[in-house]
Amino acid sequence: MSDYPLLAMALFAAGMVAAGVPLGLMIRRLRRHSDAMAQFLASMSHDIRTPMNGVLGFADLLRQQGRLTAAQRASVDHIAESGQAMVRLLNDILDFSRAEAGRLELEQGEVALYDELAYCTAMFQPRAAEKGIAIRCTIDPDVPPRIIGDSLRLRQVLLNLVGNAVKFTDSGSVALKVQAARGRFGTHLLIEVADTGRGIAPEALGRIFERYQQADSSVAREHGGSGLGLAICRQLITLMDGRIEVVSEPGSGTTFAVHLPVREIAGAAPVKKLRLATAA
Ligand code: ADP
Repeated sequence: MSDYPLLAMALFAAGMVAAGVPLGLMIRRLRRHSDAMAQFLASMSHDIRTPMNGVLGFADLLRQQGRLTAAQRASVDHIAESGQAMVRLLNDILDFSRAEAGRLELEQGEVALYDELAYCTAMFQPRAAEKGIAIRCTIDPDVPPRIIGDSLRLRQVLLNLVGNAVKFTDSGSVALKVQAARGRFGTHLLIEVADTGRGIAPEALGRIFERYQQADSSVAREHGGSGLGLAICRQLITLMDGRIEVVSEPGSGTTFAVHLPVREIAGAAPVKKLRLATAA
């Protein structure tokens, strides 16, 4: 099912080749076909999200009732969790199809970089504490505090990488580290998310940035997830003119590295080396 759009495209193209359609016309038709498919996915995601928000809203109302038994409360929690997972999946499908169709545009606003990094670390502190792992964020002093960019999309990438690191680590730590380099071609950030988790097998490393790909089949059973997160991260980072790499050692851990050219906002005061950490 995951490769249905690709298969449909291939069949559509094969039909045109068989019918002897000229190349220029074929490209225009393929583009229209891909746009229509992206449009279909976008409206389908949107149409499902609206009633899903109703389900989530009413689950919330039910939860607020004091008269639920423990079993009823657990069932309502399951409804809410499943609903939230579905909304996340729909958002991912929507983002992915928008980016595939070249319709995902980045904002060019002010990004308070340190705040974003602190937010992403704080967001996963409760989950890390629950699992008994430490989570820390280290920002080198020469990292610009404010840059031009799309803060929501940058946050989306960071949350995905840090979220995965926490998800796939059962002992040890997750470290978010940011460094900057300035040169002839401007300022470059290196954002690393390193964990001491289960790692990724070498044969799976090459495909984890592809859509709907998980390192092995046990992942979906154990952790859920769609396998779309890293594909979207790569699309977003590419739109930001950056790149993402991964190194991993099964059983020892994984490090994702994001290389990002950035425009600094002048006049922003440099801050002392910042270290946000929580011990397990
Ligand atoms: P999802 O997390 O929804 O499965 P992603 O695209 O974010 O999808 O990740 C794809 C796969 O890459 C995961 O299912 C997992 O197998 C692997 N992966 C990603 N990050 C890590 C990590 N930090 N440690 C181990 N495996 C990882």
